[in-house]
Amino acid sequence: MLSPRLLKRIDNSFIGRIVSDKRDIIERTNPDKIYIENVRSFFNTSFGIAKFLCEKAVDFGYFEKYYGYKCPIHGNVIYSSKTELEGDQEVYCGTCEDLGKEKFRYFANELNTVVFYRLIKNKEKYAVG
Ligand SMILES: [Zn+2]
Repeated sequence: MLSPRLLKRIDNSFIGRIVSDKRDIIERTNPDKIYIENVRSFFNTSFGIAKFLCEKAVDFGYFEKYYGYKCPIHGNVIYSSKTELEGDQEVYCGTCEDLGKEKFRYFANELNTVVFYRLIKNKEKYAVG
């Protein structure tokens, strides 16, 4: 067992800071909305490598990939799906509608998209190898 004094020393050290940075990242990350940036920051790597890791996690059945569509006014994700929408498909923004904005329906090709991943919790689905 580690003594409290040793734990305190680890906690004050460079390693302790790395561990607590990771803890912060884990606590801030919603398992239903994992962005490439979360993975990049966790592994302290490049965006390209983080994206590759996420795609591999999809291949091995750990993550599901989603496309999120953002309201051009509010920037919040107003629609998400496992497949990309056709450009002429319409998406509603409930916030714009609630605020009585004249325009609250948008074509998919008017919207910025963001890719995110969802952690699959059912372990039986995990691929082996
Ligand atoms: Zn909106």
